[in-house]
Amino acid sequence: SSLFGHVEPAPKDPILGVTEAYLADPSPDKVNVGVGAYRDDNGKPLVLDCVREAERRIAGNLNMEYLPMGGSVKMIEESLKLAYGEDSELIKDKRIAAVQALSGTGACRLFADFQKRFLPDSQIYIPTPTWSNHHNIWRDAQVPQKAYTYYHPESRGLDFAGLMNDIKNAPDGSFFMLHACAHNPTGVDPTEEQWREISHQFKVKKHFPFFDMAYQGFASGDPERDAKAIRIFLEDGHQIGCAQSYAKNMGLYGQRVGCLSILCEDEMQAVAVKSQLQQIARPMYSNPPVHGALVVSIILNDPELKSLWLKEVKGMADRIIGMRTALKENLEKLGSSLSWEHITNQIGMFCYSGMTPEQVDRLTNEFHIYMTRNGRISMAGVTTRNVGYLANAIHEVTK
Ligand code: PMP
Repeated sequence: SSLFGHVEPAPKDPILGVTEAYLADPSPDKVNVGVGAYRDDNGKPLVLDCVREAERRIAGNLNMEYLPMGGSVKMIEESLKLAYGEDSELIKDKRIAAVQALSGTGACRLFADFQKRFLPDSQIYIPTPTWSNHHNIWRDAQVPQKAYTYYHPESRGLDFAGLMNDIKNAPDGSFFMLHACAHNPTGVDPTEEQWREISHQFKVKKHFPFFDMAYQGFASGDPERDAKAIRIFLEDGHQIGCAQSYAKNMGLYGQRVGCLSILCEDEMQAVAVKSQLQQIARPMYSNPPVHGALVVSIILNDPELKSLWLKEVKGMADRIIGMRTALKENLEKLGSSLSWEHITNQIGMFCYSGMTPEQVDRLTNEFHIYMTRNGRISMAGVTTRNVGYLANAIHEVTK
């Protein structure tokens, strides 16, 4: 009858468990395509040159004081320009309430807590499937969740009809969580035309879109292009929410730097909303960390460093896109009779391969290839050296 005797171990995180198993495998052939972090063509983590240069400029000049409660004003300013557009009227009109957040996760959680506090009867519509942590985030914020149709297993693409139906059938004024680009785990995004239809239907139904934008720039290689969905909604005059993360597109995973923004009706409303977001953050972590925010604001503020960043983020996206082509071509060369078009149609870090949990188990047990049992391949773990081995193993378990 000890104080904590009733505490059972928490279930293992499905993604982190994969890495543990990979690390424990002594095979020299082992491949980790479970990780959600970028790797270079040698399978190594990458620190961007623009980040190293920003750090050089910081070194010795950082006084370690607290940031304001809402975080770095400069970082927020630059983040809004990235998401809403360099010359956005909404920024000039000060209609956006924004705070620095603990990366994308923290931004989502802050929004969920805000939603619970100020719209206590609301729910959140979440796509099937989604990044598993979305469920945890809104669960812990005690916002009830509803599922909306997204993925079409047969085509390994978007179930657009199902999606539109669910948007139409949701009660007016519902909250929807949308992946702004590079949907995780499926890699399936609506086309521009489809986004326009979605936006139109949101308008009809007065739904509120909350964009989780964890991969801006990382999908197509161009942050402007990856912001297209958001820009369409803005053109249509929606109020939106947006979670931004610099984990993937700047490789700042462990720095936990991101931004939560909520577009309000006017400046007065934005001031009120921002003050309430800060109020929610205050008893949780008081104020956000300074280092990563400084790195981001230095890079985005300096034209030279910004263009270096744009080049580097394109480099990461292009390597992944190249590996998609290589994986598909290798499977075709091996004579696979299945269609692998979806590997190159999908975008972003992940390929939703369509492999069954049993096939994934065979990949792991027979070929030392590690990934989540939903068949999600992290393209970031695929390299020139292992792509042939991976294709062969996939072919073996799917024929
Ligand atoms: N949203 C999605 C869809 C993601 O894939 C991720 C990262 N896996 C995140 C949010 C949050 O990542 P972070 O908190 O590291 O920014």
